[in-house]
Amino acid sequence: MTTMANSRLLLAQSGMCDDATMRGSCYEIDLEAIRHNYRQLRARLGEHIKIYACLKRNGYGCGAGPVAAALASEGAYGFAVASLMDATAIRREGVSKPILLYPGAGIAAARTIEALGLTVSISSIDELRQWRSVIGSLSVFIKVDLGFFRAGATPLSVCDLLAAAKDDQRVRVEGIYAHMSELPPAGSQMAQAQFGRMRAVVMRAERLGLRPPVVMMSSTNGVLNHPEMDFDAVDPGALFFGVAEGALGSRSMPLQPALKTVRTRLVSVKRVDRSLGTVPDIAGLRRGMLLGVIGMGWGDGLPRQLPPNVTALVRGRRARLLPPSHLEHIRIDLSDIPGARFGDEVVLLGKQGHQMITHEEIASQWGTDVVGLYGLLRDHIPKIYF
Ligand SMILES: *Cc1c(COP(=O)(O)O)cnc(C)c1O
Repeated sequence: MTTMANSRLLLAQSGMCDDATMRGSCYEIDLEAIRHNYRQLRARLGEHIKIYACLKRNGYGCGAGPVAAALASEGAYGFAVASLMDATAIRREGVSKPILLYPGAGIAAARTIEALGLTVSISSIDELRQWRSVIGSLSVFIKVDLGFFRAGATPLSVCDLLAAAKDDQRVRVEGIYAHMSELPPAGSQMAQAQFGRMRAVVMRAERLGLRPPVVMMSSTNGVLNHPEMDFDAVDPGALFFGVAEGALGSRSMPLQPALKTVRTRLVSVKRVDRSLGTVPDIAGLRRGMLLGVIGMGWGDGLPRQLPPNVTALVRGRRARLLPPSHLEHIRIDLSDIPGARFGDEVVLLGKQGHQMITHEEIASQWGTDVVGLYGLLRDHIPKIYF
């Protein structure tokens, strides 16, 4: 673990502002936990299996660039993202490993894709033609839809697409990949049906001499529960951040959470006195109370509909937030913390003194699950890495 001084340096290098400029709010991200999670996975995969770390949505809110740099130094083969911003953030860190772009970009992005050296996902012959009309020398992954009913060629059409790509000397097919549906009713049977479709596709491609070097279909759910689906490469994302929901655990591994702390500060503390007039009809608000305001609101990723009885930590004790949340602020009842002062640290997730708010607690309070919590992290909140 590095020192606070190093964290500050990293913060400055990543072009972020100091936490003082964002109402004292910040996320603490544990890059060592992310490295640990990578090593856990690496140790359980066959040596020849490549890991494309999926860092979409700005690396699950933790910063695609710094996370990619950490994983690249651990030996990750490549990365997968859904936006050019995330790909740019990775290249800016000096990471030159392969980056697969999931479906999302249009041909208007051709120059950026060439400049960053990205591999494009292709789901149809029309897509292939359109990309070839704007990029001379094209690297592609063919995406297959195994029953997710989202992007990807149907299993029936994928070999025609592989053949069309192979016919074109200027197209390099790096692989085929799929993303398993986890729609209810999830579970093994549906997973096995999708696995069966992938195997059939690969067998047909082999017979036709069209099998590309890489076949990939395992995200977090797959690597944890279906070792038989490893093929040549895997592209989990949530796993690196310590999120392994719904893991049946046939390949369980101890994971550590990447997000250690969500904290902000008290931006106002006052005693509610008579001169404020009639107290509004807001649960928990009353004359004589010690009222605080915290420097985070729904514009910073907190739920707009904050349920009652959500607590945060101030001076090592729990204090109740008073909904509704506002764009940049939320009220907090400091009646039980008479020593609270302007500028005090407020912890929404993580430890303070002997108290601790867990990922599960905050996720359920925010009306989501743990992976959803990572999805709510906002890019404008400064991140401190250690
Ligand atoms: C999101 C995504 C992944 C990673 O999923 P996790 O559940 O976070 O591991 C892998 N592949 C594709 C195509 C995705 O869209």
